Amino acid sequence: MKVIALILAALAGTATAADCGPDKLNTSRTITLKREGAAYGANQNAVLPLAKGEVVLTFDDGPSFENTPAVLKALSDQCAKATFFMVGQNIAQQPELARRVVREGHSAGIHSDTHAHLASFTVEQQLEDLKRSRAAYKAAFGVETPAYRFPFLEETPALLDALKQANITVASIDLGITDWLPDDTTAILAQRLSENLDKAGSGIILMHDANGPTAKALPTLLQVLKDKGYKVVHLEWQ
Ligand SMILES: [Zn+2]
Repeated sequence: MKVIALILAALAGTATAADCGPDKLNTSRTITLKREGAAYGANQNAVLPLAKGEVVLTFDDGPSFENTPAVLKALSDQCAKATFFMVGQNIAQQPELARRVVREGHSAGIHSDTHAHLASFTVEQQLEDLKRSRAAYKAAFGVETPAYRFPFLEETPALLDALKQANITVASIDLGITDWLPDDTTAILAQRLSENLDKAGSGIILMHDANGPTAKALPTLLQVLKDKGYKVVHLEWQ
């Protein structure tokens, strides 16, 4: 029976409970948020109720055929759960990969349909982008998205209003690691994460599963969290 469980776990790419010992980063607790028009992330909104030393891992811009699988592997290896803010067009292109993210125990929200600077759009265009990204999410997952992150964190009044009416939580960030510069090495990203953690002390961390340097660096980044004694909090929605 144990052998079968191990084989199934290996096929699913997820660590078994037995593998998730104290040597792993792990997920310390889950916060279940209501499906409501709230907005979190101290960068521009209310602070999530996190204790000092607690962090929420978030990954934007995927799913990416090239890079998301490596991110999933690194998270699975450390038994850490995250939230992925997916671009609608990417979900439509990679629905199976999008579903795999959720199957492995992570949460998923949307991050616009085309990752445009929405503030430069007319209100109609903004609402159309939201409609398309929600439809892509629903087509892949069979349910409405519970959460939204603005591309470039550029919130617009029209979309804030529409999201509130649709009971979709706006998820901003508390800290990032500026992980979109093509020349970034694992050492640079790890250093940036360490410094920004020291400054913030806790919070929602923004990273990008669609970016190669981030995917490559993630095992090291998770080790930085573990070495510094941070605890991973997983976000779920009712
Ligand atoms: Zn983005």
